[in-house]
Amino acid sequence: MPKVHVRTYGCQMNERDSEQVVQMFIEGGYTVTANEAEADAILINTCSVRDQAEQKALGKMGMLAAHRRTRPHVVYGFMGCMAQSRGDELLARFAHLDLVIGTQKYHKAFAYVDAILRQRLEARMDDPALALMGGTVCDIAEEDGSQNTIRDHQPKPLQATAFVSIMQGCNMRCTFCIVPDTRGRERSRPIREIVAEVRQLAAQGVREVTLLGQIVNLYGRSEFSRVEGKSPFVQLLEAVHDVDGIERIRFTSPHPIGYREDLVRAFTYLPKLCSHIHFPMQSGSDRILEAMRRPYKSAKFIAICEAMQAARSDLAITTDVIVGFPGETEEDFQASVDTVERLQFDNAFVFRYSQRRNTPAAELPGQLTEPIKEQRNQILLETVNRIAIAKHQALVGTRQQVLCEGPSKNNSARLSGRTTQNKGVVFEGDASRLTGHLLDLHIDHSTGFTLYGSVC
Ligand code: SF4
Repeated sequence: MPKVHVRTYGCQMNERDSEQVVQMFIEGGYTVTANEAEADAILINTCSVRDQAEQKALGKMGMLAAHRRTRPHVVYGFMGCMAQSRGDELLARFAHLDLVIGTQKYHKAFAYVDAILRQRLEARMDDPALALMGGTVCDIAEEDGSQNTIRDHQPKPLQATAFVSIMQGCNMRCTFCIVPDTRGRERSRPIREIVAEVRQLAAQGVREVTLLGQIVNLYGRSEFSRVEGKSPFVQLLEAVHDVDGIERIRFTSPHPIGYREDLVRAFTYLPKLCSHIHFPMQSGSDRILEAMRRPYKSAKFIAICEAMQAARSDLAITTDVIVGFPGETEEDFQASVDTVERLQFDNAFVFRYSQRRNTPAAELPGQLTEPIKEQRNQILLETVNRIAIAKHQALVGTRQQVLCEGPSKNNSARLSGRTTQNKGVVFEGDASRLTGHLLDLHIDHSTGFTLYGSVC
């Protein structure tokens, strides 16, 4: 039975896409291996949003060149956003690379790999010419309906949570972001198909789903109508809320554009919606938001956060902030710090701006030096961490409902789960008995970003 190894660098959407690809290989009779040395096919799925993920993926593929000398039949491929944006250039760069599969072609990964692998395996295994057989493939074309192909899950024992991809693409053109080029325009899946997928997950024991989209609250805006003043996204939330067995719903990431009153109100009558949103702010300065081509003012972002906090009193908000964007002055930077202080985010990912090729911001004047970016990064991180640590500490001594997700990744002798506010909790217990259950835990102590609790 051939073995496939799929490695993912990047975001939750990439993780979800990789899961879909893995499932297709399993259905095709392959086994999945975590050991690339024994794999017959090695696929790397890479996000393009951060330079670091791209560099790791390129470095990894470079190292695999030596691997081909001892195992000439192995098929090597790149998938995902970097494959989409670099295309043939990757084939020219890596002589051993067989496949480049774009973001609208994940569903073809299995057929391409299997065809090349079969051809090689049918030839003599010790033939050095094997590596040249099967040709190379670069498939990065657009494909209608490709958003509907990310829908299958690999049933895992004791799986409490799952990601569900509800749409692909983005129509915004933020000047720092390459996503509109790599993922195409917004395309949404029908509500009934998403609900069928969620029902299937619930039947397998999943209790929490996270709905994924580049701008999740704009789900279905070009395909489906508003009904009784409710956006397609709120209609979808209601439909998923009705699925028996699903206890918690999360979504990521929303955008201030299209974040309307109906979505705020949904948090008052849909109790399965978790008390957490990850809501990217990017900057607290209107001048920088405009340069980023983010079509909202800081005041609007703040107003949405405050309306959400009024709708759900225990709401946790996390965010993304970019520091050192081209032209960012000390005043602009201070506006970001002030907004973080005002909104008291539960946590934030702080990114130092880095020039990404093929993005308008890379060409903007006023690029800042690395020491300035690093200094701002440190200042903002200190603010974010101080608030986050205090928020974790404030939960010590309280009782929290936690969905047990199974053994902790850092210490498999313990269990881990998350509160409705998405805060991680580690505790003692029997994984086979507690995984997938909502438990009341007493929070005993906090080590900064992790809570430790005991079953009440
Ligand atoms: S909203 Fe902006 S940052 Fe987000 S995916 Fe679209 S273009 Fe990129």
